[in-house]
Amino acid sequence: MNQTANILKDLAPILAFFSFWLGACIASFLNVVIWRAPRGESIVSPPSHCPKCNSPIKWYQNIPIISWLALRGKCANCRAPISPRYILIETLGGVLFLAAFLHMLKFGLPLHFLVVYWIWIALMIVGSFIDFDHQLLPDFVTVGGMALGLVANAYESFFFWGKIYWENFLLYCVGGLAFGFGLLWLVRWIGSKAFKREAMGMGDVFLMGAVGALFGPIAVIVTLILSSVFGSIVGVVLIILSKTKLGGFTPIPYGPYICMGCLAWMFYGPQLVNWYMNLVRIQGM
Ligand SMILES: [Zn+2]
Repeated sequence: MNQTANILKDLAPILAFFSFWLGACIASFLNVVIWRAPRGESIVSPPSHCPKCNSPIKWYQNIPIISWLALRGKCANCRAPISPRYILIETLGGVLFLAAFLHMLKFGLPLHFLVVYWIWIALMIVGSFIDFDHQLLPDFVTVGGMALGLVANAYESFFFWGKIYWENFLLYCVGGLAFGFGLLWLVRWIGSKAFKREAMGMGDVFLMGAVGALFGPIAVIVTLILSSVFGSIVGVVLIILSKTKLGGFTPIPYGPYICMGCLAWMFYGPQLVNWYMNLVRIQGM
């Protein structure tokens, strides 16, 4: 175990670079999924092409981050602008994959943690941007996240430690799923009664179920609190920028804020809980 840790430390710079690059490459593919999946198009064919002039994008024009910069955000054939969102999502994927790797290294966590983090990060990126564009969360993100949580925690509880931890699986994973799903279902129900219209989609309820299945009930509470904080901050900024009237109803996707809250939990969960507990203790005196 110690030897593995030492080898990991020696190879850390290379593995860190690999993590970033893997994240950027996967995010490059996620860009395609984000565009095509909600439109019911195949994600494998036809190959990438310019939406304006239809000319196919050659492999060397499809290198994450680098190609966008080299082409200065324009199609090589017709010079039509390519949205900066492509390079933004590729960079985001790279940074989050790298952050997950550094997190595992720092806390000496086993490899399957990293794999689960990476898969869930990829699903959250797809879900967030599709939700931004279309106000919907695809099932493969939400139900996929729940399935990922069940499989990952079943592996952890039944196989990884060489001893079976039923209570861990039931309380942490199944309990987390039920709690996340139930809590958001309740919020949704109260919201629909208070505003007399659907205040939240079922996709958000499923997404919080996934957070619970992956990270347990405490993660659900922290994610819910943080997502409402992030959502409020962005909401206020949008109101100031666009002078959207508070009374007017513009559908605001909630999925991206759940994902932001969940990310904060994944990287800073215990610190956040400690910080809050200390704050309450000081206030209490
Ligand atoms: Zn073009």
